[in-house]
Amino acid sequence: MTAAALLAAVTIAFPREGQRFGPLDRCYLIGSTDGGETNLVVAGRNVPVYRTGAWGVLVDVVPGTNTVSAGGVERSFFVAPRPDLAAGAKKAPEKKYEKLPYAGDKPRKHPSGRAPGEITIVLDPGHGEADTGATSPHGWFEKDANLLLANEVRDALVARGYRVVMTREDDSFPALYDRPKVAFSSNADAFVSLHHNAPPHDKDPTKLRYHCVYAWNAIGERLARAINKRMAASFGKSLQDNGVMHANFAVTRNPEIPSCLVEADFITSPAGEESVWNPEQRKKTSAAIAAGIADWCGARQ
Ligand SMILES: [Zn+2]
Repeated sequence: MTAAALLAAVTIAFPREGQRFGPLDRCYLIGSTDGGETNLVVAGRNVPVYRTGAWGVLVDVVPGTNTVSAGGVERSFFVAPRPDLAAGAKKAPEKKYEKLPYAGDKPRKHPSGRAPGEITIVLDPGHGEADTGATSPHGWFEKDANLLLANEVRDALVARGYRVVMTREDDSFPALYDRPKVAFSSNADAFVSLHHNAPPHDKDPTKLRYHCVYAWNAIGERLARAINKRMAASFGKSLQDNGVMHANFAVTRNPEIPSCLVEADFITSPAGEESVWNPEQRKKTSAAIAAGIADWCGARQ
C-alpha cells in the first residue's frame, strides 16, 4: 500500500471543522483510521492506533484559530481567549440558579411495602440536543448512549411493574434545573440520572475506564449503593468499580427525593466505546441498574 493510500484513510471526528470552543488550554482530538495505519502522527506526535482503528490524543491549543493535522488530514477550530486576556472584556454575569421547589428538607417516605405499580421512578438521560456530552473515538455522542441506556432501564423497570417517567424521550434538552423538577411534578420516589463518562484533561482519554454512581446526601447514597452493587456484580472484572462517590450536582442534591447519577462506563476510550455501543452489554448494564433500583425499592430503610 502506498503512503497516500494510508493517509487517505484517516478521519478526524472531533473537533469538527470550524468548531468554536471556550477558553481551553488543551483540546481532545479523536478520530479513526482504517486500522492499517500504525505510525499515525497527530499534531506532530506519534499516536497509538487501536484494534478498532480509533485514536485519541490531547493537544495544547492557543487562543484563536488552531490547525492540527492527523495523518495528513487538516482540521481548523477556534479557541476563545480567556476573558481576562481579552482587551476591555467585561466580567461575565454571575450565573443565576433557580431555587428548586423543595417543600422542605424532609426525605419522602421510602416506598418499601408498596407494590411496584405504586412506585414512580424518574429516569434522566443526561445531555441532549446541542449539549452532546462526551464524544467517542468514532464521533458518537454521549447524549445518544445515555438515551439508549435509559430506554432499556425504563423497559426493564416497566417489565417489573414500576411506573417510569423520563425527563426526555428524544434528542431534546431539558434545562439542567428542569430535570429534578420532573421528580416533583411526577411525585417520584426516586430519580436516576444516566450518563457515560469522559476523563478530566490530565488523564489519558484512550485508557481511563470505570463505572461509578454519584450521590450527595444519605438518601441518595442508599439508592446509589443499591445500583452500584448490582453494576459491580454484573460487570465483574471486565470494568473497574469506582463505587459510590460524593458529588454536589443539580441532579443529586435533592433533599426530599432520593437521587443519584450513574456513570455507566467511559465512551472516550476505544474499548469503552465498543462496550457502550454493544447491544448485549447495554442489556446487561440496563438490567443491573433496574435490579439495583428494584432492590432499593424493596429494602427497608
Ligand atoms: Zn454526561
